[in-house]
Amino acid sequence: MNVFVGKTVYPGTAVGKAAISSQVRCKHDGLYDAKEQKARYFKAKGLVKKDLVSLCANEFSKDVFDIIKSYIMILEDEEYDSCVSTILEVERSNAECAVKKASEHFAAQLKKTGDEYIKGRVSDVYDLSDRLRAVLKDIGDSDTGTEEDDSKKESSNSAAGEKNILVSEYMSVTEIIRRGKENIAGLISTKNTLHSHASIVARSLGIPAIIVNEIEDISTLEDSTILIDGYEEKIYINPDEETIKEIMSKCRQSEIVSDGNNDTAANDSYNTAALMKVYANVQSAEDVAEAVKNGADGVGLFRTEFIYLSKDDFPSEEEQFEIYKAAAINAADKNIILRTADLGDDKTPAYLETNGLRAIKLCLSMPDMFKTQLRALLRASNYGNISIMFPMISSMDEVAEIKEILDEVKAELKDKNIAFNENIKIGAMIETPAAVEVVDTLAKEFDFFSVGSNDLTQFALGVDRLNSEEEKFYNQKDPKVIELIKTTVSAAHSAGITVGICGELASDVSFMRELKEIGFDYISVSVPVLGQIKCKHF
Ligand code: PEP
Ligand code: MG
Repeated sequence: MNVFVGKTVYPGTAVGKAAISSQVRCKHDGLYDAKEQKARYFKAKGLVKKDLVSLCANEFSKDVFDIIKSYIMILEDEEYDSCVSTILEVERSNAECAVKKASEHFAAQLKKTGDEYIKGRVSDVYDLSDRLRAVLKDIGDSDTGTEEDDSKKESSNSAAGEKNILVSEYMSVTEIIRRGKENIAGLISTKNTLHSHASIVARSLGIPAIIVNEIEDISTLEDSTILIDGYEEKIYINPDEETIKEIMSKCRQSEIVSDGNNDTAANDSYNTAALMKVYANVQSAEDVAEAVKNGADGVGLFRTEFIYLSKDDFPSEEEQFEIYKAAAINAADKNIILRTADLGDDKTPAYLETNGLRAIKLCLSMPDMFKTQLRALLRASNYGNISIMFPMISSMDEVAEIKEILDEVKAELKDKNIAFNENIKIGAMIETPAAVEVVDTLAKEFDFFSVGSNDLTQFALGVDRLNSEEEKFYNQKDPKVIELIKTTVSAAHSAGITVGICGELASDVSFMRELKEIGFDYISVSVPVLGQIKCKHF
């Protein structure tokens, strides 16, 4: 039994078979038979191509057809095949590794071309590489049989119905969402940070998760049983039954908090939290119901980008409308703040080319996508108390552009006699120092502010929230960050608008008194933290 010490992302205990992330499943554990691995590769390629060709029978927009066609073109590229074959022959690695390496080589070649269109195909190469490796995983290690057998197969490293410990280098938001909470017992990553969106998702879903930098090659964990002890920040590889029994009998954090602990400081924090409105951070319509059940006063942040991350293509207006409508209904008459898609960086679905842009800047550069979302949100506003919030605002020019587009969409809906709340409230996330610079002017343009302390910290302190090397410099309570927050709250109140906080600082129960003193009207926290606060007092 090996034991590794790490950093806990979300406490709790979990045990299960390791499921190595399909993003990195390369075995460096011996020499493979090149002929066998080539047969696996060509079989996987055939299956992926068949899948793509059958997709062409659907009624997609031209853009989607173009993407599918470009995938097929890459698959038919002889250079790609020959690159995979050479790696298999020279390195004698398995097909997963060869596909990963060939794709990286191919992507690097594309990046070097001056042609913007060709450069744009880089994400297609990576997406295809993911698909090929996922299919290779399903095929198994030596099976190169007929394609017909494959529909009957389960994934090679998880039995049906069994929850796994998902192991990855960089934990991927998309992978967590796509696998689903119900299939994940715990999460381990080797290069993730506590402030990445994947960590936030793990916390909001209440999945025990831990970062263990010490593990160099995650493929060595393949087929292992892993036990996570998030309370002690440890993981056990292939633990004995006695250790499993002992660790798994520890109770979960929410149970500890709600079982009448009499610590005065903790009591003070929870009492203080109860003096502010306590909203919830959510990512689905189901979460809204869960939040309300746990006593939320409303929803302070619905991260709508997770809808985009759970799909293979841009979600349509109808798809989005149904989700936002369900969310509004689930919130009953409570305030529910939906943030427009904050895509980019570690929240980039394979089908989206961001050109390095994120959040509102990306949306403004893709007006059709932005308008589709606004139409869906406005239509849903007819079913509940919906407000719209915009992420990463940094200039008044952006605000002017947003308002122009919003007015256009409202006018179109009116022309078509489609009902929506004409006085829908709009809010700005204050999460860049640039926004704080113009916060007095911004306050005249919006109905509310919400402080995004996660990004505000990274931009104010110049610390990359995704870089584990910089983690020690990332502190949401740094005096410079607190100063920017105080300026924001004071500007909001001078202008007579509401101000809350939805970054992770709001979920720090030991900081409640300070948040109340700063003057927040509401805090918005993850559902498990909401459970802790509400369990204690209601
Ligand atoms: C924030 O930056 O504090 C925030 C809530 O947004 P996100 O974490 O989704 O970037
Ligand atoms: Mg943010």
